[in-house]
Amino acid sequence: MTFRITYSMLDADLSALHAQFDQTLSSVRARLGAEYPSWIAGTAYRSGDLLESRNPANPHELLGRFHRTPASEVDRVVRVAREAQRAWGATPWGERVRILRRAATLITERRMELAARMTLEVGKNRLESLGDVEEAADLLRYYAGQLEEAQGFVKPMARLSPNEDTRNVLRPYGVFAVIAPFNFPVALAAGMSAGALLGGNAVILKPSEETPWCAEGLYHAFADAGLPPGVFQVVHGEGESLGAALVRHPALDGVTFTGSKAVGMSIHQQLSTGRARPCLLELGGKNPAIICRDADLEMAVEGCYRSAFGLSGQKCSALSRIYVHESLQQEFITRLAEKARGVTVGDPSLASVYMGPVINKASVQRFERAAAAARSDGTVHAGGERLRLEGALAEGYFVAPTVVELAHGHRLMREELFLPFVGVTGFDTLEEALVLANDGEYGLTAGIFSRKPSDVEAFMDRVEAGVLYANRRTGATTGAWPGVQSFCGWKSSGSTGKGGCGPYYVAQFMREQSQTRM
Ligand code: NAP
Repeated sequence: MTFRITYSMLDADLSALHAQFDQTLSSVRARLGAEYPSWIAGTAYRSGDLLESRNPANPHELLGRFHRTPASEVDRVVRVAREAQRAWGATPWGERVRILRRAATLITERRMELAARMTLEVGKNRLESLGDVEEAADLLRYYAGQLEEAQGFVKPMARLSPNEDTRNVLRPYGVFAVIAPFNFPVALAAGMSAGALLGGNAVILKPSEETPWCAEGLYHAFADAGLPPGVFQVVHGEGESLGAALVRHPALDGVTFTGSKAVGMSIHQQLSTGRARPCLLELGGKNPAIICRDADLEMAVEGCYRSAFGLSGQKCSALSRIYVHESLQQEFITRLAEKARGVTVGDPSLASVYMGPVINKASVQRFERAAAAARSDGTVHAGGERLRLEGALAEGYFVAPTVVELAHGHRLMREELFLPFVGVTGFDTLEEALVLANDGEYGLTAGIFSRKPSDVEAFMDRVEAGVLYANRRTGATTGAWPGVQSFCGWKSSGSTGKGGCGPYYVAQFMREQSQTRM
């Protein structure tokens, strides 16, 4: 998923928007370093064991300290959720919709505060942060609409005899763990949680250890909207300890996870032991774009640039491999590299900055390893080095937007890097390009630039990915909005077969029951 300027933002006076953001940022900064609890059974839980959240642009800046929920508390958290779910599952669906719509309104009202936190905690630029928050509110409204449209998923069925009445009803599973990634800390945590909640389940949210502050803001929007205590709990801690303890709990009825393939598959394995339970996985990507011989080159460069470097390349849909027709290869690379060198990298809280830092030191180290491999096995046309900025940002996790030329078979063209790092290689025929685009384990998004409708049709028919784009200047492989593009990972990019942002999302959190009455 990615940032889109929403209609409401377009209508707004952009200079007023910036002024409001700056003002909110100052008030948020005045509260840095505070302590925050986990939220269990509707009350603040303080373990005394604190997780620190720091600004990736300036790791010396402590944003907040969060009371971890120890693994030993997980059993209580699950029991609380189970107890609360009984009443929530029996609550009329219209009331669940009303509460989640109210949460959407509160998220919109609080969007400046949530976006300012996100810019400091994740390093997104201010428009990307605002887009993430707006998307969260839109997801809630869109998912609530699914329940309304289906009238609570109660469907009269055919009659075998006049006095027989059969209904197909979707019912909740019970208690869902929602495990969220760092990169869309409000939109994805809110969207997954809302899907489960609207379906009548209780939710235990384990946000990324990188983004507890955003999750704290989300908790209050949900709680203030009127969710009963225990229906939505937020536990802070590391994935390897708390997350693993949560998914190991035998009384959990399902997990919805968005994150890397490695962690997702370990959760899948865990969930498949004991008893059958749903495990909804939205995983990584290694997303290709194809630039055909007759493409609009300016459009292709712009679309590729935005998809490769927006949010510092840390999107599941980020463009990471480009196949360009050999006749255009050198000109395309020169123009893309020029744009990459022109990216303003810096403090993402400034209005003028396009690209902030990557999330942590491990990401910088991954970048440095990838750059070294590219220097040895290919050609680096732009970037390839860590950036050392001045003053307070000197220790920030900044890397240069990077364009490299590499053979298709190279591991950097196959592994998800989750960095502002894109590989380019040439092709001769469209047939060859389609084979290359499909040659990989992931299948999330893909794009094509061509003026020939037959090329576009071949691409749409043949590419094995859940989200396809043709001739898109605003993003070759990125950009999805609730009710517009469903976001369904194919192959190793997801297990659900029904994507977030799409029309079948909420039903996944419910199970069918056939009820026949004579
Ligand atoms: P990640 O490292 O897989 O972590 C995701 C979540 O899992 C975090 O909350 C993490 O907690 C938790 N976790 C880690 N180890 C765990 C374990 N053993 N048991 C249970 N939970 C565990 O992913 P990330 O770095 O946050 O996000 C980037 C990844 O997400 C990329 O692969 C990206 O493509 C993918 N993504 C996919 C989509 C999509 O829609 N398909 C959207 C966004 C992102 P900690 O943070 O505390 O370790």
